Amino acid sequence: MSLGIKNALTREGNLVNITIDGGLITNISDIDTKFSENQFDHIINAEQSLVTESLISPHIHLDKVLIGDIIEPNISGTLWEAIQQTWEVKRNYTVDNIKKRASEVINNQIKFGVTHIRTHIDVDSIGGLMPLKGLLATKEEFKNVIDLQIVAFPQEGILKDEGTEELLEKALELGGKEMILGGMPHNEFNDENSKKHVNILLSLAKKYNVPIDSHTDETDDPNSRTLQYLASRAIEEKFRNSITVDHICALSSYDDYHAARVIELVKKAGINVVTNPPTNMVLQGRLDTRAQRVGITRVKELLEAGVNVTIGQDCIHDPYYPFGKGDMLEVANLLGHAAKMTTASAINTLYDTITINAAKTMDITHQFEVGTSADLLILHGVKNVHEAIRTTPPARTTIRNGKIISQTKYTQERFY
Ligand SMILES: [Zn+2]
Repeated sequence: MSLGIKNALTREGNLVNITIDGGLITNISDIDTKFSENQFDHIINAEQSLVTESLISPHIHLDKVLIGDIIEPNISGTLWEAIQQTWEVKRNYTVDNIKKRASEVINNQIKFGVTHIRTHIDVDSIGGLMPLKGLLATKEEFKNVIDLQIVAFPQEGILKDEGTEELLEKALELGGKEMILGGMPHNEFNDENSKKHVNILLSLAKKYNVPIDSHTDETDDPNSRTLQYLASRAIEEKFRNSITVDHICALSSYDDYHAARVIELVKKAGINVVTNPPTNMVLQGRLDTRAQRVGITRVKELLEAGVNVTIGQDCIHDPYYPFGKGDMLEVANLLGHAAKMTTASAINTLYDTITINAAKTMDITHQFEVGTSADLLILHGVKNVHEAIRTTPPARTTIRNGKIISQTKYTQERFY
């Protein structure tokens, strides 16, 4: 199967023709060079629209998405109320119910140009391994169109929720290769147990040779210091597997000196950061009585220090976040607002956070260049990444392994 894309505009502003064969990008040439259209099984005229790597969704909770319809509203708006509200729903999970909701979101993400997703799924004494079973069934169904990585996530704590460590081991065994170990060390009864939680993560990750992707310090509490502990332990142990931390909202509550010290450790440990502006802008700052915090971590300082930062949708229509549709361009737009990333270079970085930075976090090769897998996105009618993030255009073509897997067209009829 060969595919040609003609008149494509690159991020650098060059007009090119793209040749795809056997799932790989085999040539990218200037439009003035010879390009014989009848050599392809299929050809797309991009009509001078932007073509880039496809988008990546590195942090979402597909077991919990869309439960907002069957749950009472989160009145306090806090993370802790959201967690407690989810308990009743988790007790009644079935494979089919999880698969149905997860599939609806995955289909939307594909429509928006996503080809790789990393999802966290709860592993605890309430839902047991049901969320994992639901996502493994979903992964099988979408195996030809999406790369789905699954993170075993002990949201209820490990020491606080008896039996969770054993369940995590079972999840890592059941999920097989490509499983990732999640964490939630700030959700323990005290600092000592939070440290034990981190040590359990490091030892399990070594035992099963898996990466760590841990919710960390998702709180406004300036005393929450589990990121510092995790980074220090990873450096001391010369931990080799990749580590990603999510949210790290408390970093914004530290004073500048302590925050700088922690960011230096994160850089030294080679830790990736996922910020989740949609959810944290609504969950955090709820106890602030004046000058309410924005809720996200110190994105600009982390980027300036050379830390790999990416963005997650996190939640869609559940007790944690009532909005969201899975469009990573919308998520980048929200980060632009929350982190005040408004210059041309900052907007360019926003686009990196949902493409090449996210790929680094997921430990995959994902670059729009010859020889790589043809996982591409055509943003019809859009000329550059600024316009893409500003307008979040509806007309998109998603290409996975050299095949068109989704094409959304847009027409407007004007009657004036
Ligand atoms: Zn999350």
